[in-house]
Amino acid sequence: MSQASVHRVVIVGGGFGGLQATQNLRRADVEITLLDRRNFHLFQPLTYQVATGALSPGEIAYPLRAIFKRDRNIRVLMAEVTDVDLDARELRLSSVAGVPAPASIPYDTLIVSGGSRYSYFGHDEWAEFAEEVKSLESALTARSRILSAFEAAEMEPDPQRRESWLTFAVVGGGPTGVEMAGQIAELARDTLSRDFRSVNPRTGRILLIEATDRVLTSFPPSLSARAERSLERLGVTALLGRTVVGVDAEGVSVDDGNGSVERIPTRTVIWAAGVTASPLAAKLAERSGAELDRAGRVTVEADLTLPGHPEVFALGDMVRVRGTDGVPRVLPGVAPAAMQQGRYAAKAVRTRLRGGEAPPFHYRDKGNLATIGRAAAVADIKGLRLSGFIAWITWLVVHLWYLVGFQNRIVVFIRWMFSFATHGRGARLITEADAKRCPEP
Ligand SMILES: Cc1cc2nc3c(=O)[nH]c(=O)nc-3n(C[C@H](O)[C@H](O)[C@H](O)COP(=O)(O)OP(=O)(O)OC[C@H]3O[C@@H](n4cnc5c(N)ncnc54)[C@H](O)[C@@H]3O)c2cc1C
Repeated sequence: MSQASVHRVVIVGGGFGGLQATQNLRRADVEITLLDRRNFHLFQPLTYQVATGALSPGEIAYPLRAIFKRDRNIRVLMAEVTDVDLDARELRLSSVAGVPAPASIPYDTLIVSGGSRYSYFGHDEWAEFAEEVKSLESALTARSRILSAFEAAEMEPDPQRRESWLTFAVVGGGPTGVEMAGQIAELARDTLSRDFRSVNPRTGRILLIEATDRVLTSFPPSLSARAERSLERLGVTALLGRTVVGVDAEGVSVDDGNGSVERIPTRTVIWAAGVTASPLAAKLAERSGAELDRAGRVTVEADLTLPGHPEVFALGDMVRVRGTDGVPRVLPGVAPAAMQQGRYAAKAVRTRLRGGEAPPFHYRDKGNLATIGRAAAVADIKGLRLSGFIAWITWLVVHLWYLVGFQNRIVVFIRWMFSFATHGRGARLITEADAKRCPEP
């Protein structure tokens, strides 16, 4: 580590990993720069609720500056990291939203947690028609698309075209896909059921398309079966063993695995299948010679550092970790994994500053949670398998606990209780800026 009087730590990403690293270094004798292209921390596990009008953006996001306003050794910068010079120990930056950014920034220790994004299985052209819900911007676009589809159906005289407006296809049966499908079903069946005059939103078809033979493959099969039953009760049709082979403005094409391709007319497709690491992973790999896997994750050592660069930590969704046996392992792409790694990196920096060496990173699996709808969820916590109301309460408590900002916790709790009692969703807005990003019908 550098002999400079104050050790400079630069942290890239104010998401789950980067935030934990920053928070766990705030009392250390270091000067921290936290860099993110957004000026807020986003609680991604609830973006799907923004996409379905259950919550508003400000309730699941929190300004990074506000989180660290009392920490004089932490500076927050809004900028895009474009490259890294590992020899010069400098990051290259570009400006975001017209905010000027320095061309480069030096570091003694670098911690990178750039996350991941959805991949369209090599068909980036599908992205225009199949919205994902990873960022706040895309969640708002998805919200506009879903709500606009009901509006368009109300105006549509042709029954077939009306049916395609009232068909919603969610691709990917993981937790996000299941949550999205369940929420769209509740929106159609409960919230909007009496809002329209020409169409009955309750007749909407909500399809969940999954390539494997069950939803929630990261859960035990018994919980997948319970989730499928809950989805069915909500009116979601799970199309299992089907692979999406085409998406355009008028529908999706799915292959049933036996060579037959079915065309499903729909105007609203939500993408929740397959992720690829942040491009920062490829940059780090290119500059250091570290391995990249097929999902674009850079392989880091057992102590989360880049091979040959003990001063650079990479963590979260964008990495796979080499075990002490030398075998690279992909950890679950979930917030607890990134948070544990962020805390570990901070502790490793503190240990090194005291002249010590950190032991290898060890992931503690805290279990899996997914919600399906009102009072319906599944949980697999260290072998304890829960479903229904008790799993839903567990899900609620865990999400409120990890949500950043006391005010957000209170507001979200009140919103959820209110929605539970009334079936209402207060943020059902179609705004021009969001709708502009939707393709023209
Ligand atoms: C819709 C959805 C639902 C999810 N639900 C759950 C759930 O219920 N439970 C769960 O545990 N996990 C869930 N996850 C996964 C979880 O959100 C991720 O595993 C977690 O966010 C990973 O943390 P991270 O720090 O690696 O990346 P992120 O939290 O994504 O943070 C990355 C940060 O880096 C910034 N960044 C990226 N590139 C640059 C750049 N070049 N320059 C500057 N800044 C940059 C981004 O703006 C972002 O703030 C969900 C994910 C999604 C998308």
